[in-house]
Amino acid sequence: MTTWLSIPADSDFSVHNLPFGIFDPGDGLPRAGIAIGDHIVDLAAAAEAGLFGKRRFFKKLFEQPLLNDFIALGKPVTNRIRRKVQDWLCLAQRPDNATRLLADRRSARMHLPVRIGDYTDFYSSIEHATNVGKMFRPDNPLLPNWRWLPVGYHGRASSVVVSGTPVRRPHGQLLPKGQEIPVFGASKQLDFELEMAFVIGKENPLGEPIPVDRAEEYIFGLLLFNDWSARDIQRWEYVPLGPFLGKNFASSVSPWIVPLEALKAFRVKGPKQTPPPLDYLKGSGASNCDIQLEVAIRSGQGSETVVCRSNMRYLYWSMAQQLAHHTVNGCNVRVGDLMASGTISGPTPGSYGSMLELSWGGQEPIPLAGGTTRTFLEDGDSVIMRAWSEKDGQRVGFGEVFGTIF
Ligand code: MN
Repeated sequence: MTTWLSIPADSDFSVHNLPFGIFDPGDGLPRAGIAIGDHIVDLAAAAEAGLFGKRRFFKKLFEQPLLNDFIALGKPVTNRIRRKVQDWLCLAQRPDNATRLLADRRSARMHLPVRIGDYTDFYSSIEHATNVGKMFRPDNPLLPNWRWLPVGYHGRASSVVVSGTPVRRPHGQLLPKGQEIPVFGASKQLDFELEMAFVIGKENPLGEPIPVDRAEEYIFGLLLFNDWSARDIQRWEYVPLGPFLGKNFASSVSPWIVPLEALKAFRVKGPKQTPPPLDYLKGSGASNCDIQLEVAIRSGQGSETVVCRSNMRYLYWSMAQQLAHHTVNGCNVRVGDLMASGTISGPTPGSYGSMLELSWGGQEPIPLAGGTTRTFLEDGDSVIMRAWSEKDGQRVGFGEVFGTIF
């Protein structure tokens, strides 16, 4: 596939990708778009130009500031729109309406792409669960249920923000080392969690589980996800009901939803699961994605230091298994719900997806550019996460999710 647009060779947004997002070009009117190179295809303008048929219907749909209604039309429609845009981008020569349909991606302001009804966070990396377990419970790192089911908790949707939104350091109850009475104060152990998330594109009726081998029909696309975490608040509050205020002050998502279909060339088998899962969790085929991940920290205006390189393929539990398990009791999911993977750590220290693991509980400072070090995040620090797949000259990426602490 070749396009008349010039696209930088290392762009995440190649003609193979075409992710959906909500942007405004500076007029304060958020609308739907598809990222391509350094540009955005304005879908409302494309609808008006007749690219999709049913002009008025699609123009109105794409002028909405959220993608929920579009996604709810189902994959036959969303895939057709993507293909129509791809055809237009691959015309033999630059069409006359190109200027009218394209916006500048570099200067556009990005918005949260969907109204998130519910958000669930899983805990699906065995390396991460084992590392955290070793620090919190040295004698019993991986709890007995972990290899039998994808552990998760219901998070908070209201505080999921789009990339670029500054993150305020949370205050809360902290238990000083060796003390029995907590104090109130600002978290001193603010951390990131490198995660991927998927957006639900199809609903199941209450009471009707989604079978594991049909789960991907319910997945619209994927995002990069930073689950900001206050470890000191978390450590004191998490027993017995799990994460609460140490997590729900903010989570950041990348603005472009990469459709599952765009990742087809990068699907891989997951790790061998021992013991074999119960029947309702038995998936087949290439259930994982080979997506390279990296995390960089920038202190103030300084330069970035990459502190972690990982890959989504390390995940023990697949997205299909997460969704099958989530709904096996009859729980219903809705269009726009967000399911995050949990921190994606790899097998080696350079691939750990949180500062808690990278600094091993604060014992081993992480060196940054300019000679400074970190165990946890300081005010003014920015965290930048990136994700991309690359194979046979095809590149499909997610761009960035970043946030600065204040
Ligand atoms: Mn998490």
